[in-house]
Amino acid sequence: MNITDTLGRPLTDLRISVTDRCNFRCTYCMPKKIFGHNHQFLPKDDLLTFEEIERVTRSMVGLGVQKVRLTGGEPLVRREIEKLIGMLAKIPGLKDIAMTTNGTFSLEKVQALKDAGLERITVSLDALDDAVFKALNDVDFPVQNVLDWIDACDQAGVAPIKINMMVKRGVNEDDILPMARYFRGKGHILRLIEFMDVGRTNGWRLDDVVSSAEIVEKINAELPLEVVKSSYRGEVANRYRYVDGSGEIGVIASVTQPFCGDCTRARLSANGQIYTCLFAVQGHDLRALLRDGGTQDELIEAISSVWRQRADRYSEIRSSQTADLPKIEMSYIGG
Ligand code: SAM
Ligand code: SF4
Ligand code: SF4
Repeated sequence: MNITDTLGRPLTDLRISVTDRCNFRCTYCMPKKIFGHNHQFLPKDDLLTFEEIERVTRSMVGLGVQKVRLTGGEPLVRREIEKLIGMLAKIPGLKDIAMTTNGTFSLEKVQALKDAGLERITVSLDALDDAVFKALNDVDFPVQNVLDWIDACDQAGVAPIKINMMVKRGVNEDDILPMARYFRGKGHILRLIEFMDVGRTNGWRLDDVVSSAEIVEKINAELPLEVVKSSYRGEVANRYRYVDGSGEIGVIASVTQPFCGDCTRARLSANGQIYTCLFAVQGHDLRALLRDGGTQDELIEAISSVWRQRADRYSEIRSSQTADLPKIEMSYIGG
């Protein structure tokens, strides 16, 4: 049974945050002054177990979900995440399992993820310049280790690999061209993301956003680009290819060209709340139902009732008023 929300949007994608913890403190996502030693992360018992995540995912696949992405926080912080991947891979009807990671854990992990059924991976890397990257991740982590991780994914055949680069004015915009030069010709897709006003702690200002138009212009001036048509409804990136055939990039213009009309994603937080928008102020609890003996039918009914009532279009109505909403942090809701 496929369902649609109040704006006629189907539910086809699920992002699962498997933990709210991370080994990085990216200044635009988990700034140290908020996520310091005293920060209270979710207690272990609050996290959904792999079995509970599998049940929710199975219910959602019954309602139309075809793709799942594991994220967080940092998904590889969650121990034995490959076990969860193996469990999800067995769900009939689930077509695609992907992960977004900062690519900082052991290289051996890559093969385990692949063997468990991970098909696609997105690795985040905001700069090639070591000093810029270290200042952004704020834990002194070097670029080379992430590049090695990307190579390990390539060798293991987890493809295509996407590279997420969040772009912030005056911080890493000078890294746009070096990143484009480095990743073209390698078969990887660089995706440049406008700095977003997720959560309440990253000090977002519109002036800090480098628009996707400006990003494309910058790359196009040296490496000519042409538009590629989007391949499916709900694709968030505007796609371009290098005219010389050396590859493709994507720009995610969530601030300057919102795509709410085609947003087909639900998010499951690590403690079992369903969110229907990245900028939501409130979730819908599924964990109580899971732990109070709810049946699979009850789970499906609860999820479909949330989706049928969905009317979110935050990026289309973003304004000075919405900036002050008590929005949930990205590391908790799942980026
Ligand atoms: N820790 C993993 C990682 O960094 O890849 C997965 C979670 S992270 C929240 C997912 C993606 O969200 C990353 O590519 C990150 O750069 C991006 N992100 C986080 N905060 C953002 C913001 N305020 N604006 C734009 N992108 C952001
Ligand atoms: Fe961690 Fe990813 Fe957020 Fe950086 S963007 S702090 S790596 S969750
Ligand atoms: Fe989807 Fe919300 Fe982003 Fe709009 S603002 S595209 S509804 S997640």
